[in-house]
Amino acid sequence: MVDNLEALSGLIKKQLENYEDKIDVGDVGTVVTIGDGIAQIYGLKNVMMSELLIFPNDVYGMVMNLEENSVGCVLLGKDSLIHEGDVVKRTNKVVEVPVGDELLGRVVNSIGQPLDGKGEIKTKSYRPIEMPAPKIMDRESVNSPLLTGIKAIDSMIPIGKGQRELIIGDRQTGKTAIAIDTILNQKDKNVYCVYVAIGQKNSTVAQLVQKLQEFGAMKYTTVVCAGASESAPLLYIAPYAATSIAEHWMLQGKDVLIVYDDLSKHAVSYRTLSLLLKRSPGREAYPGDIFYIHSRLLERACHLKSELKGGSLTALPIIETQAGDISAYIPTNVISITDGQIFLSNDLFNKGQRPAIDSGLSVSRVGSAAQYKSMKKVSSSMKIELANYQELLEFSRFGSDLDKVTKDILKHGSILMEVLKQKQYSPLSLSQEIVDIYIAQNKLIDDIEVEKVHKALKRISEYIYSQKNDIYEKLENGHLLDDELKREIEECVLTVKKVL
Ligand code: ATP
Ligand code: MG
Repeated sequence: MVDNLEALSGLIKKQLENYEDKIDVGDVGTVVTIGDGIAQIYGLKNVMMSELLIFPNDVYGMVMNLEENSVGCVLLGKDSLIHEGDVVKRTNKVVEVPVGDELLGRVVNSIGQPLDGKGEIKTKSYRPIEMPAPKIMDRESVNSPLLTGIKAIDSMIPIGKGQRELIIGDRQTGKTAIAIDTILNQKDKNVYCVYVAIGQKNSTVAQLVQKLQEFGAMKYTTVVCAGASESAPLLYIAPYAATSIAEHWMLQGKDVLIVYDDLSKHAVSYRTLSLLLKRSPGREAYPGDIFYIHSRLLERACHLKSELKGGSLTALPIIETQAGDISAYIPTNVISITDGQIFLSNDLFNKGQRPAIDSGLSVSRVGSAAQYKSMKKVSSSMKIELANYQELLEFSRFGSDLDKVTKDILKHGSILMEVLKQKQYSPLSLSQEIVDIYIAQNKLIDDIEVEKVHKALKRISEYIYSQKNDIYEKLENGHLLDDELKREIEECVLTVKKVL
């Protein structure tokens, strides 16, 4: 009897030992808790970080936490479709997005599904959303310009292909406008563009897509949209997914421009995620690796060596500041990751100086090496002149009796500022920019009233187009701005000024 009992308990013990094997906790798991787009899962012993998991009802999730007894997973779909006790399976894949030319002209979400109602995207290639940045030995220095078509930027803060230039400023200061104008200016320049909208209203993005369509820019552009109503995980992965789409073209030797609009909202979505995953909060409640999430994203922008087909990925991240404070946590992080910043000032914007670029706080650390020679020549002293002007302007408020030299500097400065004003959706060609800046820099129109500057520039440009188009043609083709060309421009200005 006793023997029998012992044998029986031994058997039960043995069965219990193998119990785990039978339910196979290696590749399958069970949802323990669910809520706020986060699932805690028991099982999945073999799962990898960032692996894609499949839940019932075709909901996908991404592994974000590997803990001792459970796995933390963010859902890439609705959490209302998932319940406690549901079975979760591994896919042995990390999250991927479709890539390739089929994505041009399309609006997709963070996992590459179409949002524009134009049907399925039939692409054969996929790329993981997280890829290591190209190695230093695979990179070439930034040596060819990427023109924005905005006078103030191409002259003073030039951007090169493969550069990362931050656009930073308060809300409603024209940040998106600069990025969109830059995309419009890539028309017929053989540059593909990717615009990522993170946490924006869907209606805003729809308007923007319509504008791109209107100007024929969707032909070479993909829009990735993670709207404000989407869950935090989708906002968080959007820029990585978009970078993979762009990277695919870069690896084929193409020049690609990517706009992240904006990384402040991206940081907030990551903070939300991290807090829900119970990771410990740090400064401003952001998790400790907030710097790393942006650096590993922006490090993927580069100019590849010609042996690797010489493609490039230029990144324009956008950051929104509060009351112009660029020394807050996220702004300083991204400033230190990028190769320069375009600072937009609320003050200038309200005064009507648009684009509201603060030339004193803006800088491009690598772009000048890639600037066109003629442009460099005409614009080299502009930043200093504008700084002098701003300084004098402050002083001149105190006294009314100014000497002629001061008056001249003030007048010249105000003309320069006026010339740098530019409407939205009207990027200029390189030659037009050079001519405008040459005219302003050499004081050729210092004698006309500030209000008439734009009329004068327009007339001069029309005159050159109709009578002396070779000036524009030569400059466009990289001809240096030599004495002969300068004389011709000056003659045109004189002729137009007579009838102004
Ligand atoms: P948000 O913080 O809401 O994203 P933003 O900084 O991206 O704003 P925009 O949406 O680009 O700013 O521009 C704000 C407003 O200023 C828009 O109405 C836009 O039309 C206008 N604007 C932007 N640039 C110019 C410009 N160069 N000339 C005239 N108006 C402009
Ligand atoms: Mg914006």
